[in-house]
Amino acid sequence: MWSLFRKKYPITFPAGSHGMSNDYIDRDVLDIMARIKSRGFEAYLVGGSIRDILLGKRVKDFDIVTDAHPRQIKRLFKRCFLIGKRFRLAHVYVSRDRFIEVATFRALVESSQMQDLGKKYAENNVFGTIEEDALRRDFTINALYYNSADSSIEDYTGGMEDIKKKLLRSIGDPVTRFQEDPVRIIRAGRFCAQLNFSLPRRERKAAEKCAIFITEANTSRLLEELYKILRCGASAATFENLRQFGVLKFWLPELAENPHWNNMIKRLSVIDNRRARGQDISNSILIASLLFDLFTDAAGEKAEKISHQEIINLIRTQYNAFATRLRLPRKEWDMVTNIASRIWIFKRFSAQRRMKGEARFVHNAYFPESLKFFEIFAEAEGSLEAHLKYWWQKDREYFHRSAPIQANSTLAAVSANKSPQSIYHPDTRPHKVKRRRKRRHTKRMSAQTATHQSPSTTQ
Ligand code: ATP
Ligand code: MG
Repeated sequence: MWSLFRKKYPITFPAGSHGMSNDYIDRDVLDIMARIKSRGFEAYLVGGSIRDILLGKRVKDFDIVTDAHPRQIKRLFKRCFLIGKRFRLAHVYVSRDRFIEVATFRALVESSQMQDLGKKYAENNVFGTIEEDALRRDFTINALYYNSADSSIEDYTGGMEDIKKKLLRSIGDPVTRFQEDPVRIIRAGRFCAQLNFSLPRRERKAAEKCAIFITEANTSRLLEELYKILRCGASAATFENLRQFGVLKFWLPELAENPHWNNMIKRLSVIDNRRARGQDISNSILIASLLFDLFTDAAGEKAEKISHQEIINLIRTQYNAFATRLRLPRKEWDMVTNIASRIWIFKRFSAQRRMKGEARFVHNAYFPESLKFFEIFAEAEGSLEAHLKYWWQKDREYFHRSAPIQANSTLAAVSANKSPQSIYHPDTRPHKVKRRRKRRHTKRMSAQTATHQSPSTTQ
């Protein structure tokens, strides 16, 4: 099989024969590659960045590969850290909080073989040649190597041709490759949706055949893929693909069997449109949008009448185990259930029917994030405009805001790893609320004194 590739490839595409040039690459990335090369090593840009530039898409991150070994890379840069146990990667920091990943060409040896080889032998054999590195990648369009010195592209698997044809072809036999790593099936669903590519018949059949292996995939990787899908700008189409490939019923069976599938697709489409406009959306809102129909079933008809706390309890009783299976961190799950349960309150009250204890509801730490989720929910439903306006109005009234909430203080606190109890909306931190109440109280008192005094003054 591999010898077939060896005969024909690599094909070198010189500068000018393709749409890629150094103009599309970050200065820092070019500098890192130049430094590696100045010491006699090879360095290429590889993976999603080349694919996206060739397709005229926005690039998210740049990955560099080289024949230099991790310790040799570390010696070249002042701020460079090695991560990973077996296969070590270098993170070269270009600023306080931004790094570029530099990896050494990887060998074709698979992890199962690795274990048999023994630690010492394995360590020396994880690194390989550029050709081996290309062949172990997932799809041909992800295995193109850009040389910044002469702006040429090295193609070892026919990726350039597939980019032209808009085909997502697996490198090697798709059954073997999907069996080896079933997460590739999910990636196939996302790439086809995101890039508007087709999956050839061979790959589609292999995906259907290997879908069941997804149950053995690492759950942390699956969660990471889930967030990637929800943020990729084509999450609705990706979920349609995953259902068609038959992988969703093994990965997230609750969603594959969702009788309100179209509602979920509508919410995901709203998210996709917002992502296309560059809007950042928190993990909790993404997950709440995905799972809301499951919550509706868990809450049942009585959800129209009970408190949001009771709704949270119903959701948690039914779906805590699901959240654990997804590997959602507890704080994230807290946030998801809190913001989702408040949807029923947003829908229940409006200018026509006022809520008792409204101030407390609005001042709650979860309110800003819940309102943002309600915006997405209402846009997908298309019939809750009056309710949305009412709650925006409340938000303005209580927080003197001139526009719907943009800042995300609550979530920032969550990601900063603070406990939910310590999270307060900036305007609802206890000392501020106390001060505000005190001010209001003094104002009222002085107004009362003024009215009491007024008769005497007019006399
Ligand atoms: P995106 O960043 O949009 O997810 P990407 O192709 O850059 O797209 P990454 O997850 O960043 O995806 O991976 C970088 C590269 O690593 C890929 O382009 C591919 O060559 C390789 N790769 C990633 N995941 C796999 C996998 N499961 N099997 C084989 N190769 C992979
Ligand atoms: Mg990438």
